[in-house]
Parts: sequence; C-alpha cells; structure tokens
Amino acid sequence: MIKQKYIDLLRVKPGKNIHLKDYVTECAQAEELKEFDKDELKERASIILEQNLEDLTQMQQMLYADDRYSLLIVFQAMDTAGKDGTIKHVMSGVNPQGCQVFSFKKPSAEDLDHNFLWRYMKSLPERGRIGIFNRSYYEDVLVVKVHPDLLLNLPDGKRGKSFWEGRYEDINAFERHLERNGTVILKFFLNLSKKEQKKRFMDRLERPEKNWKFSIADVAEREHWDDYMEAYEDAINATSTEWAPWYIVPADEKWATRAIVADIITSTLRDLDLKFPEVTEVQLKMLAEARKKLEDE
Ligand code: AMP
Ligand code: MG
Repeated sequence: MIKQKYIDLLRVKPGKNIHLKDYVTECAQAEELKEFDKDELKERASIILEQNLEDLTQMQQMLYADDRYSLLIVFQAMDTAGKDGTIKHVMSGVNPQGCQVFSFKKPSAEDLDHNFLWRYMKSLPERGRIGIFNRSYYEDVLVVKVHPDLLLNLPDGKRGKSFWEGRYEDINAFERHLERNGTVILKFFLNLSKKEQKKRFMDRLERPEKNWKFSIADVAEREHWDDYMEAYEDAINATSTEWAPWYIVPADEKWATRAIVADIITSTLRDLDLKFPEVTEVQLKMLAEARKKLEDE
C-alpha cells in the first residue's frame, strides 16, 4: 500500500483552489519522494501494483456479494495520457461480470436531444458492480468549454461564467445524489506533461504497429493545451467534494499511474464496511432440510 500521506497529496481538498502546475507529472519530481531514486520508485511501484491487483480481485467479490454499494470510477485526461492502458492493467484481475467499462465519444443526435447528464445516467454501475467511465460528463465542461460551438440545441442564453458554474453545480448535485444512493465515486485526472504527450504522439507516428492510434484531430486539440488546462483546473476546483473527490495522478510514467490508481481504488473498497451476507436462522434451517432431502434420495 502507498502511504496515506502521499495519496493525500494527490487528493484535491474541497474548496481548495489548486493550480495544475503545482502538481508533478513524474513521481521522482515530488519533493516528498526526493529521498528515493527512480529505479527504487519503479521497483516499489511494481510490488504495490501486484499486491493491489490481488486485493482488488478479493474486494470486488465482496462488493458483489455485499450488493449495497456500487463504485463509479471516472477517468479524464489529455490524449495519450494512458486512460486505456491504466483501465486495462488495473482491472486485469477483476471478474468481467462485476465490472463495466464505458468509453464516451462525441455525443449522438439522440444524446444531444436530452439534458447533458442523460447518456451517462444510463450507464451507471448497478449495485455490487464497478463502473468505469473512460471520459465522462466532465467532457461537457472540458471539450465543450474549450469549443463552445459544440453546445447545440440549447435555448438561447449567455454562455459565460455563470453557465459553466451552473453545470458544475449540476454535476455536484448529480454526484451527491449517487452517493446518497450507495454509489462510491472516484475521479482521476491523469496529469500528463505537454512534453511527454509530444513524445507519445511521435511514438505513434514512428512505430507502424502504433499508427492506428494516431489521430490528426488529437494533435489539433494539443494546440488548445492551455485552454484545456484552465478548463480542467476550473472543473476540478469546482467539483472535488467530500463525496466525489478528484485525484491528480502523475501520468508521465505509466508504472506510477497504474500503481497509484490501483492503490486508491483498492483502499477505497477496503474502507467500506463490506461483508458477505449473513445466513439467518431460518435460512440455516432450510439448508439443513435441503441437505437431508438430498441425502435421503
Ligand atoms: P477518444 O477517447 O480518444 O476515442 O476520443 C473521444 C472523443 O470524443 C474526444 O475527442 C472527446 O473530446 C470527444 N467527446 C467525448 N465526450 C464529448 C462530449 N460530451 N462532447 C463533445 N465531444 C466529446
Ligand atoms: Mg483519442
């Protein structure tokens, strides 16, 4: 397990006005981890990841058996930050029947004919399940804020600061509603540096087996990097709450991202009062009767 004091550094406290530039994109840059060298950190991360994946398998079974909570995990990041890889690795030991992954792309015409939370509402995890959102309703205050012309079909009105504040308020209320109904929410922003993104795009261009992942549109979005960072900062500051906290996870080293995310998910489940359903006296009696019946056959 990663020490709580390190995890606390990544968790955005409600009401705190954070600046993304104050958050590291590489572990080794962190003041608090200066005493370790990179190889040592990498070695530790791999042990932590392995242990957490084992625990997560157990915890997910408990979550399913307990059948009172669901876990919603939101991933948001710039392109190439490693959302897909993190989901793949962290969920590798989890029973597919207890886990649902939804990747949200550009909204359809039907989606746009509804309120902005509608399509996400339909994909929420059922009780006992883990639901992963690879992109989420946060896109509606990120890409849509950077490109307000995407705001289609809405009644006329100002699209300024108060419009976006209204959306943050809606998101907080939505998440509060989910929390009150037994959904535990974790939100991860994978914090990638602009420099590392360039490296990863170049990699996609240079390695034929990675060419398919390259998209011209992604490079166009890179030109809006600063606008995105501002939109992320505003969204994170407005929506990191006690009931649905944001974690800003360094993303320039994939091994670090995976270990940290796995650790936060596992310890969140561990902290819930999960238990296997107790068998009542009446049920025990019925079990004994069933057993007798089978034996007497
Ligand atoms: P990817 O996840 O790389 O396959 O890309 C999905 C694309 O869909 C990204 O360019 C997102 O910005 C875009 N997208 C996701 N949600 C929304 C949304 N609510 N409105 C507009 N674009 C979106
Ligand atoms: Mg993409």
